[in-house]
Amino acid sequence: ANCHGRPTPRRTDIMASHSGHISSDKRFLIFFDFDETIVDETSDDMVVQAAPGQHLPGWLKDTYQPGRYNEYMQRVLAYLAEQGVTESDIRSTMEKMPSTPGMLTLFQFLRNRPPQDFEVILVSDANTYFIESWLRRAGARQLFHRIFSNPATFNKDGRLVMKPFHSHDCPRCPDNMCKQVIVRDYVARRKQERGRPYQRIFYVGDGANDFCPAAALGPRDVAFPRRDFPMHRLITETHESMPGEFKAVTVPWVSAEEVVQRLRKLVAE
Ligand SMILES: [Mg+2]
Ligand SMILES: [Zn+2]
Repeated sequence: ANCHGRPTPRRTDIMASHSGHISSDKRFLIFFDFDETIVDETSDDMVVQAAPGQHLPGWLKDTYQPGRYNEYMQRVLAYLAEQGVTESDIRSTMEKMPSTPGMLTLFQFLRNRPPQDFEVILVSDANTYFIESWLRRAGARQLFHRIFSNPATFNKDGRLVMKPFHSHDCPRCPDNMCKQVIVRDYVARRKQERGRPYQRIFYVGDGANDFCPAAALGPRDVAFPRRDFPMHRLITETHESMPGEFKAVTVPWVSAEEVVQRLRKLVAE
């Protein structure tokens, strides 16, 4: 409890929106990015559809500073609230985002596996509100054991207030989030709790900020970069410039059904 007698939330409760117990018998751990990986859009761009005239004014766009994207989105969300955009406007805009090719088939595959197969985690630099809105509509919220994203909730004035996820000192990631720090901490903590490692770890992503966590995977693990997206290009460049440096097996995908095909083989081992 803090000095006011209220219990202090544990850090894991703040970070994760779903803190139920996860059984210790899972064989595999699979991480997903959200934007352009699960949905075929960038949610931060999509939310502009809720703005008057479906665009942001130039003065607002001009406030963006490189490396300070999270603060910029906080201003965008404040602007939307000032313009009278409501929670239901934002939710319905998010719910319209299409899934990427084959992604719902991959979700179905994961759901149909025995419960001791997959622990499923989402790691995204969008925000918890956008992600949960979409997942609920898609009927996929229950698939994810944990969601790590920038926390966002509506305040009493009806404005979506977003906060940075954490701070870190990784030089290649934006100030508010290094997914490698999240993945490393999560794997280390779960290994402690479980008393044993996972058979394999998987990472499904598309962006430059998905390269950083995938670079921490080992030779038994599999990186699933969306083909010809930045994560895939960075892996290819690393293979060329520093052979052996990127250790995970790399399986690029255009449709997530290709991810299913590879997982089918690996779960049968
Ligand atoms: Mg992405
Ligand atoms: Zn990083």
